[in-house]
Amino acid sequence: MKLRPEIVSVAAYKQGRPAPADGFKLSSNENPYAPLPGVVDAVAAVLADLNRYPNAGGLALRGRLAERHGVEVGQVHLGSGSVSLLSQLISAAAGPGDKVVYSWRSFEAYPGLVTVAGATSIRVPNRADGSHDLDAMAAAITDRTRVVIVCTPNNPTGTIVTAGDFEAFMEKVPRDLLVLLDEAYYEFVTNTSSVDGIPLLSLYPNLVVLRTFSKAYGLAALRIGYAVGPERILDAARSAAIPLSVTDAAQVAALASIDLEDELMERVARIAMVRDDLRARLIEQGWVVPEAQGNFVWLATGEETESANDAFFDAGLTVRAFPPEGIRISVGEAASVDKLLQVAGDIVQNLPNGHPAKRLG
Ligand SMILES: *Cc1c(COP(=O)(O)O)cnc(C)c1O
Repeated sequence: MKLRPEIVSVAAYKQGRPAPADGFKLSSNENPYAPLPGVVDAVAAVLADLNRYPNAGGLALRGRLAERHGVEVGQVHLGSGSVSLLSQLISAAAGPGDKVVYSWRSFEAYPGLVTVAGATSIRVPNRADGSHDLDAMAAAITDRTRVVIVCTPNNPTGTIVTAGDFEAFMEKVPRDLLVLLDEAYYEFVTNTSSVDGIPLLSLYPNLVVLRTFSKAYGLAALRIGYAVGPERILDAARSAAIPLSVTDAAQVAALASIDLEDELMERVARIAMVRDDLRARLIEQGWVVPEAQGNFVWLATGEETESANDAFFDAGLTVRAFPPEGIRISVGEAASVDKLLQVAGDIVQNLPNGHPAKRLG
């Protein structure tokens, strides 16, 4: 069979290992809280219509999102997860011979989506503290570049892009080059100097902001996210979409979640507090941990990644290993945090002195 060789050689998307029995799954940045009853009820109410295709326009949810973000309904586009929005937007702008620039390491879905579009990835290394090197990213732009992806907080390192740095970056980017600002972890951000993309849409005609209900809103199973940006760009994304892929269950669950937002955002605040405490305690143990603004922390375990991953797994903790760079650990149930700290304390003790993940002294 004649298949596209670049597709054949793409590694299949690697999902986090399931948690061992009575262990914890900290490998997919999922929300540890079960859905609120109001969300479950909203989904249950649409089950009787499973024989029907979903409402393709998604106007109720789009209208609700448009209102809250102060934009027109046409400036909101729903996708079955923001991964599918990334796919549509990359495919809409970049094809064979074109380049897509992003920081690396970043979200593991980016390389595959670029390859499937037929385009080529230009990966700009993160700075030593795990953050985007926006100057280097701007310098990597050529007349073949069609998309730049900025991920803040960055998955997996947890670092943010500040408002000042983002605006300075946008001033260097040609106005006809699409910039995707991936804010999948927006709701967990507590650093007030962080960029906030949606209010900037009026300044930059080439900016699209991506958000998801998978993480803070705890709807990962239903696959729903949204893009906010210029209607003309989103129309191109709509043209690149697989029709009818956003289900009614996902739409009503998202609407119910917006209704229950106060309660959900209390959970998010709790997760962010646990995160900050976890990071502080890891640093006390001797780890170097980049600023963590998502619902996860990053340990730059380097060559020790596989052995550290095994140590966590043996203790009942499934984490996400990216050998030979590091390990991303989601902030999960309270009981998982104590266990995690126990194992992490042992691992850091055994890292060789001078290891980049270990503090001096
Ligand atoms: C989780 C994640 C997404 C999107 O997830 P969906 O479930 O597809 O909405 C997008 N970007 C980043 C960086 C993520 O970590």
